[in-house]
Amino acid sequence: MKPHDGLYIDGAWRPAESPDVIEVVNPADEEVIGRVPAGGVADVDAAVRAARAALPGWAATPPAERAARLTALRDALAAREEEFTETVTAELGAPPQFARAVHVGLPLAVAASYAELAATHPFEERVGNSTVLHEPVGVVGAITPWNYPLHQIVAKAAPALAAGCAIVLKPAEDTPLTAQLFAEAVHDAGVPAGVFNLVTGLGTEAGRALAGHPGVDLVSFTGSTAVGREIGAAAGAGVKRVALELGGKSANVILPSADLAKAVNVGVANVMSNSGQTCSAWTRMLVHRDRYEEAVGLAAAAAAKYGDRIGPVVNAKQHARVRGYIERGVAEGARLVAGGTETPQGKGYFVSPTVFADVTPEMTIAQEEIFGPVLSVLAYEDEEDALRIADGTVYGLAGAVWAGDAEEAAAFARRMHTGQVDINGGRFNPLAPFGGYKQSGVGRELGTHGLAEYLQTKSLQF
Ligand code: NAD
Repeated sequence: MKPHDGLYIDGAWRPAESPDVIEVVNPADEEVIGRVPAGGVADVDAAVRAARAALPGWAATPPAERAARLTALRDALAAREEEFTETVTAELGAPPQFARAVHVGLPLAVAASYAELAATHPFEERVGNSTVLHEPVGVVGAITPWNYPLHQIVAKAAPALAAGCAIVLKPAEDTPLTAQLFAEAVHDAGVPAGVFNLVTGLGTEAGRALAGHPGVDLVSFTGSTAVGREIGAAAGAGVKRVALELGGKSANVILPSADLAKAVNVGVANVMSNSGQTCSAWTRMLVHRDRYEEAVGLAAAAAAKYGDRIGPVVNAKQHARVRGYIERGVAEGARLVAGGTETPQGKGYFVSPTVFADVTPEMTIAQEEIFGPVLSVLAYEDEEDALRIADGTVYGLAGAVWAGDAEEAAAFARRMHTGQVDINGGRFNPLAPFGGYKQSGVGRELGTHGLAEYLQTKSLQF
């Protein structure tokens, strides 16, 4: 795509007040592929004012009409499938097949689900002698990361539009071209001017200005726990609503009765896909002491098969950070059985699929989110020990449990402190609530639970 040199505000591409620009780099070859404006405080203010002005009209639009716009948006996204695939590949480095199937396929499903929910959701209900109205919360400040650039935007914008909210989006600085393409789709879908606005820019300037803007009613943020904490504090000071989708360090618990080869192979694939840049990735594999060495061998072989089939990590900073964690793992005494800090290719931010054995629960690589293709395999003594290890981090975003039968796995999953658990390789469900326990966040995305984040209630008593 050809980058826009403006910001999408009030239904048109307009020059930014701020003269600064962001250079977009292809992480596979380190070449600059485009430049976009780095919007500043004045640009955020203009976008929030446009959203506030558009809010009453959109909030009063009948849900059936909002559903029609969302169907048109889903179609406008689908019409750009090729362009989205190319853009995500260029700015994130995702292999084209994965970009098309997941980076574009998943948001299409999510957009379609909200088109349907907008048409069918009960925005009014009777409770005894009351009529309860579910009304839009108002203007949403959406701040998104780069790891699934289109999905993270759609997971906020689609429910916000379905609810009747107006939006200002500040996407990640590494992947603004996908966000520009999304704005084009919103425009083509006939969403009224000002209902959706895009300000590309830096987190510390545009992001901070948006999170603290008095004209924003809800800040919906996905990204690191450190920034989430700052946004939560700013929202608290302004008595604003806040939704936080933060990091994870999820456990893949393989119980003794499980099909070990299947559990290990799916587990390795889960960590390596998207080059390990998935907040819900099962980066800790927990295996019973008796089957530990067998599992380590299987994991090392599975990781080696990935070889150069995975893309790079997103940028030089993440490259250095991930390799730093690998060095730390070695320094703390973990056993490297696949990958390492050797860079597979000359150019680009590539990291070898890496597996560590002999990882103990307190090691840095077992506690902190690495956000790269790095798996830690840990041994447990019995189920109580497995549960203690699985829950033994500050995070609680996701997880997996494998056992001979689904009931046994589900019984273990019910005891875990985490937001979603896949049982024996259960499929991702775009209608199921997604979000974290503990420091993995506040609130839920997707499906009706995701829609509820953008609604507030009013009770009329009769
Ligand atoms: P980040 O939290 O710094 O950035 C996420 C978004 O927040 C971006 O749009 C960024 O511009 C914005 N932002 C940054 N500072 C801000 C501030 N002070 N106020 C308002 N907005 C701000 O994440 P990152 O630097 O892109 O990645 C760092 C780490 O975050 C990763 O290594 C990973 O651990 C984690 N991460 C998690 C997810 C997730 O889905 N949970 C996604 C991406 C990254």
